[in-house]
Amino acid sequence: MSTADPAASNLQIRLAARPHGLPKESDFEKTREEVPSPGEGEILVKVLYLSLDPAMRGWMTDRKSYIEPIKLGDVMRGLTIGEVAATRHPDFAVGDRVSGTFGWQQWAISKGQGVEKLPKHLAPELFLGPLGMTGLTAYFGLLEVGALKDGEQVVVSAAAGAVGSVVGQIAKIHGCRVVGIAGGAEKCRFLKEELGFDVAVDYKAADFPEALKAACPKGIDVYFDNVGGEILDHCLRYLNRGARVPICGAISGYNATEPLPGPSNYLSLLVNRARMEGFIVFDFRARYAEALQRLGAWVAAGQIAARYDIVDGLENAPTALNRLFTGENTGKLIVRLAAPRVAAL
Ligand code: NDP
Repeated sequence: MSTADPAASNLQIRLAARPHGLPKESDFEKTREEVPSPGEGEILVKVLYLSLDPAMRGWMTDRKSYIEPIKLGDVMRGLTIGEVAATRHPDFAVGDRVSGTFGWQQWAISKGQGVEKLPKHLAPELFLGPLGMTGLTAYFGLLEVGALKDGEQVVVSAAAGAVGSVVGQIAKIHGCRVVGIAGGAEKCRFLKEELGFDVAVDYKAADFPEALKAACPKGIDVYFDNVGGEILDHCLRYLNRGARVPICGAISGYNATEPLPGPSNYLSLLVNRARMEGFIVFDFRARYAEALQRLGAWVAAGQIAARYDIVDGLENAPTALNRLFTGENTGKLIVRLAAPRVAAL
């Protein structure tokens, strides 16, 4: 067994308080402990990259959801990419690159359950972006829940973010006309000029309702909803007969401190025999391999481009998380803890 650097300590970020509204630094506690040693059948992972996801805000709240809330005092939950630093597990070797839910910490012990080995010749960030959970969410949300057909009229919100940017690009691959909704002129430029969206609409602009209407002259067949709230309500207005609205997320309400009103245009679902359906990407776990093969081919062919918003240092994760809620991130938000030993091509 090889061992970790004995001089190193394990910085961990724990949930100290349940946030009210936008998370504050005081909702987190930074602790340090000795780097643990793997027992029989275990690996020690050095965490390199931590994915920051809007869902983390929900996990910090004590209410019934699709997953248990994080307990006060526990290390924050998080998807990560790491490197095996020491092993007493027959299936893992030192230097293996792996993904797993190792949390907001520099080092983690694992028995290997839910841990995937990753190829070392590709950039590790890809496995938190288009070839990771966010790419899979876009894939299944659009193609399965959204039942996308070639050539349809597609609208996606939070379009310059991790999920939304992949949704729009998959829809383009299927010959669809794609409208992206995002906050600000620069994100709209990015969607059109760098990702090839047909139209980009700035929801922060005063003329958003008119601009959205003008952007959808043939109505909407699939509205991929990442944000809920008023943007959802506006989009419901333009649904076509038989439209589908995958409910992927509702980030506009994640920090709400009061109950939010439902969409006032929901009768559009009845009139248009349309369907709204929520989903969780984990429900498609059995089909990840099939999806990753197709996503991988699109990435390799340059049909899906990835953009990352990388923040250095685990100690900066608590403040970086709020970039998702203020819209400061473009593309996948990631915290880089350390560089991989083997650089990607
Ligand atoms: P993003 O990278 O898209 O980051 C979040 C973006 O949301 C921000 O950049 C911001 O962009 C936008 N946003 C924030 N606040 C608001 C607001 N009040 N109104 C409109 N837009 C807002 O995050 P992800 O791609 O990781 O996640 C996107 C959505 O997908 C989230 O709702 C998330 O919970 C959901 N999700 C669901 C999964 C599932 O299994 N169902 C799995 C993974 C993610 P802008 O500057 O444009 O405002």
